[in-house]
Amino acid sequence: MADRADLVVVGAGTIGGWASVFAAADGVGRVVVVEQGLAGMGASSRAAGIVRAQGGIPATVTLGRWSIDFYNGQWAAYGTDSGFRELGYLILAVTDEDERAGRERVAMQRAAGLADVRWLTADEAVALIPTLASDGHRGGSYRDGDGHVDPPRNVRAYSLAMQACGVDLRERTAFTGLRTASDGRVIGVETSAGVIETERVLLTGGPSLRAVGALCGLRIPSGAARHTVAVLEPHEAFAIERQPMVFDIGAGLYWRLEEGGLLFGWSDPDEQPGEARAIDLAAYERYRARLAEFVPITRDLGLRKIWAATIDYTPDHLPILGPAMRPDGSLIDGAWVAAAAGHGMMWGPGVARVAADLALRGRTELIDVTDLGLDRFDAQGRSRLDPDPIALPYPRVAGD
Ligand SMILES: Cc1cc2nc3c(=O)[nH]c(=O)nc-3n(C[C@H](O)[C@H](O)[C@H](O)COP(=O)(O)OP(=O)(O)OC[C@H]3O[C@@H](n4cnc5c(N)ncnc54)[C@H](O)[C@@H]3O)c2cc1C
Repeated sequence: MADRADLVVVGAGTIGGWASVFAAADGVGRVVVVEQGLAGMGASSRAAGIVRAQGGIPATVTLGRWSIDFYNGQWAAYGTDSGFRELGYLILAVTDEDERAGRERVAMQRAAGLADVRWLTADEAVALIPTLASDGHRGGSYRDGDGHVDPPRNVRAYSLAMQACGVDLRERTAFTGLRTASDGRVIGVETSAGVIETERVLLTGGPSLRAVGALCGLRIPSGAARHTVAVLEPHEAFAIERQPMVFDIGAGLYWRLEEGGLLFGWSDPDEQPGEARAIDLAAYERYRARLAEFVPITRDLGLRKIWAATIDYTPDHLPILGPAMRPDGSLIDGAWVAAAAGHGMMWGPGVARVAADLALRGRTELIDVTDLGLDRFDAQGRSRLDPDPIALPYPRVAGD
C-alpha cells in the first residue's frame, strides 16, 4: 500500500508541531510530520521563552495576543501546557527617540485592541520593578499580561498533543524534495525514508528553512544567527513569584526571572550571521556589563548556565506565511511556507494556526496575510515592508 497523507508537515518545531495539531483537530485526516532529527531539536527547545503581545505592527499584536490566549487555555484544551507564566513586560526607552517611538507604538497597539498596554515613566517603572536602576532610562511601554513559556515544556506539550490527535510523527526522517504533477500541483513528498503521497504540504524549518526551500526550488530569504542566553545565580531579590521582564530594545538585550536567578539573552548586531552554537565570552562580558547598568545587583552574581543556539530571522523581522512561490513567481499548488522569524515562542501558536488554515483552506481569519508571503522579497532577499520595530538587531538582508 502506498504511504499516503492528507497533509505532510516538514519540521517538528513549535510551528510544525502546533500546526499539525490544529490541522488534525480540524479533521483534515491523516497528518504526517517529518523531522530530520528529533522533535524540538531546532530552535524551539533552546529559546528563552519570552512571550509578548506588544507587537510592533497590528498583525504581530494579534499573533501575540492569540498565542497568549492559546497558552492560557492549554489545560482545558489539551490537559497539558507550555508553562506560560504571566510576569508583565517593560520595553525600555533609553533615548528620546525610543520614547517617541514607544509612545507611538502604544497608541498603535491600543488601536489594534491591546487595551491594557500603557506607558510607564521611569519612576513608575522602578516602583513596579524594584531591581531596575532609577537612572539611565525613561521608563517604557508596559503590559501586565505578557510573560514567558518554558521552551522544553512547550516541546513536550505539542508532542503530547500530536500524539493525542493521532498525528504521525516521523523522527530521523529528512524531507528531501517535492513531487509535482505536470500542472504544478503537489502530489508527493520525498523523504530519506521514501515517498509520501499527498496533495498538501506545509514547509517549516526555523533556522534551516532556507535549506528546506532550496530542496524544492524555493528561494526563502530566511536567515540564521547566533543568539545567546545566560542565567545568573539566585538572589533573594529574584526569589519572588512575579517581577516584570524587561527589553532594552536598543541593545537587543532582555531579561526575566528564572529559578530564583535572572535569565538574560542577546544577539550581537556586529556579528556575521550564520549557524553558530559556540559561546562568545567577550560578548557575554559586554552584555553582562550593560545588564548591570540596569540591574545593579547582578554585578556580583556568578554565572549559573549559558547557551548559544541558532535563531531564525527574516530581513523585516516579520513572519513568512504564504504559498510556496518559486523565484519566477509560479506557485507550487498545495505547498505552503511558515516561519516565525525568531519569534516562535511569542507568535508560534498564532503562526501555526494561520499556517494550518492556509494549508487546509487557503485562507485565514486570524490576520491579513496578503503582504506576508514570499513575494514581498526581491531577488536579493530585501523586503518591501518596513521591519517590525520591536525586534532583536538582525541584518536587513538574509541573502546568499
Ligand atoms: C537561543 C534562542 C532564544 C530564543 N528566544 C526566544 C524568545 O524568547 N521568544 C521567542 O518568541 N522566540 C525565541 N526564539 C526563537 C524561537 O525559538 C524560534 O522562532 C522558533 O523556535 C522557531 O520554530 P520553528 O518550528 O519554525 O523552527 P525549529 O524549532 O527550528 O524547528 C524546525 C525543525 O525543522 C527540522 N528540519 C530542518 N530541515 C529539515 C528537513 N530537511 N527535513 C525534516 N526536518 C527538517 C529541524 O530539525 C527542526 O526540528 C529563540 C531562539 C533561540 C535559538
